[in-house]
Amino acid sequence: MIVDFHTHIFSPTIQEKHDAFLQQDTCFRLLYGHQNAKLATATDIIASMDEHHIDVSVILNLGWTSHELCVMTNDYILESIAHYPNRLIGFCAIQPIAGDNALQEIERCAASGARGIGEIRPDIQGFTLSDATIMRPVAQMLIKRNMMLLTHASEPVGHHYDGKGSITPDTIYPFIVDFPELRIICAHWGGGLPFYALMPEVSAALKNVYFDTAATPFLYKPAIFKHVADIIGSDHILFGSDYPLMPPKRVLDQLTASGLNQEARDKICGENAQRLLSL
Ligand SMILES: [Zn+2]
Repeated sequence: MIVDFHTHIFSPTIQEKHDAFLQQDTCFRLLYGHQNAKLATATDIIASMDEHHIDVSVILNLGWTSHELCVMTNDYILESIAHYPNRLIGFCAIQPIAGDNALQEIERCAASGARGIGEIRPDIQGFTLSDATIMRPVAQMLIKRNMMLLTHASEPVGHHYDGKGSITPDTIYPFIVDFPELRIICAHWGGGLPFYALMPEVSAALKNVYFDTAATPFLYKPAIFKHVADIIGSDHILFGSDYPLMPPKRVLDQLTASGLNQEARDKICGENAQRLLSL
């Protein structure tokens, strides 16, 4: 089974009124404001999954800065997972600064079958993961509802790119340590956090943490698959593409070229996700 753990879809309304939403939201503008920005709907992703032999995709929302836009866009995620219950898994958006409204939104999404929250963007949404006043109630609610949290992450070094942001390993790590029971997925290899798992205490802290491979061809050589698997184990790596930013095939080709054995590749491609999502 192949599970793409990192994709983004938007409703036809957002596709049609792309410019109006760019005006309304900083996060959307930063990520989808450039000329070649691609937006896909549920219908588009199902067609792409059929073409690339992807069995299941996790459809993520993003870090909308207003609570109202989180709710509006979550409706489409929830509608899509209801429409394709065997193909799509939903992760919804919250604006943690919205306090009780954000907590109620987690409950609403959980009740409609969402499995997590993400892809959050603390750097754009205006909070830090280490702010316990904001994040403790959120983390506690996610644990209570058996939901995961997927955060964007990026490298503190290297080239700049649109949407890179500043959610670097040093800002994610204290949050991970504070909430050991919360299952956390760090996108884009956690901005390099797995490399610090050569430190024994970091390795112990990452027990409930997973790293997705979204957009790897833009960031790393294929060898990253093998190196990170050597450090944290292939059990903690989740194949994700960042569709429609790139077709899933590009990341899967890197995985094939990585030198990892079939057993490890099967885990990364789907078995880990199957276990995590109880598919
Ligand atoms: Zn991201």
